[in-house]
Amino acid sequence: EVGGNETDLTEAQVRGEGEVPKPFTTFNSCGFPKPIMATLFSLGFAAPTPIQAYCWPVAGVGRDVVGIAKTGSGKTLAFLLPPFTTFLGTRPGHGPSMLVMAPTRELACQIQLEAERFGRRVGIYSVCVYGGAPRGPQLREVRAGAHLVVGTPGRLNDYLEGGELRLDLCKNLVLDEADRMLDMGFEPQIRTLIQAIPRDRQTMMFSATWPREVRNLAHEYLRRPVYIQIGSHE
Ligand code: ADP
Ligand code: MG
Repeated sequence: EVGGNETDLTEAQVRGEGEVPKPFTTFNSCGFPKPIMATLFSLGFAAPTPIQAYCWPVAGVGRDVVGIAKTGSGKTLAFLLPPFTTFLGTRPGHGPSMLVMAPTRELACQIQLEAERFGRRVGIYSVCVYGGAPRGPQLREVRAGAHLVVGTPGRLNDYLEGGELRLDLCKNLVLDEADRMLDMGFEPQIRTLIQAIPRDRQTMMFSATWPREVRNLAHEYLRRPVYIQIGSHE
């Protein structure tokens, strides 16, 4: 039966202030809108991964999330799908509703590809921006309007400081692979970008490891986050 299998949550540790919503351990219990469910089922996955099982209901009630999970655990859909349900049937505004920062061009493009897979047929637009490529074409795509902008902190900050990217309408912020972004020296750009986004937003931060620098960012910029840790971290 498609989507009928259950997620194994034995490796998961979850904590947060107040009431934390129960995990969605089957696709059928997620309650995403039809077009999102259809794409999920078409991929032939058996069940949500543990990070998805916990992230989806928590993000769905609008809470901030810290996700600690290693590569290959399904984080991309964990953070994309809850905001996407709110974009269905809407036109992009004069600036993205969602911003995702990722450490490298390759990772940013992978995220955008996943976003296209779920968004393309249902009018959810996404663009990807990164350094080492001409600014013009990327900028034209941003200007054409997109619900989601994915990018590396360097190029995103470049557009922000040039007045070419407005973030005042951004409601969903994701820091993906936060530990790697900090290792690469992107902290100043990350901070500038976050400070350009109104406080009235949802923030999700993902990291494979949990060093002091990442904890500091989480403490400064997330509000009452729910911590979801899958497996042990270094
Ligand atoms: P991470 O960001 O944690 O490294 P990704 O989001 O890139 O992981 O996902 C890794 C792979 O797993 C991708 O190919 C993705 O399509 C696939 N995937 C995502 N969700 C599921 C699922 N529920 N079941 C099986 N595979 C999945
Ligand atoms: Mg990833």
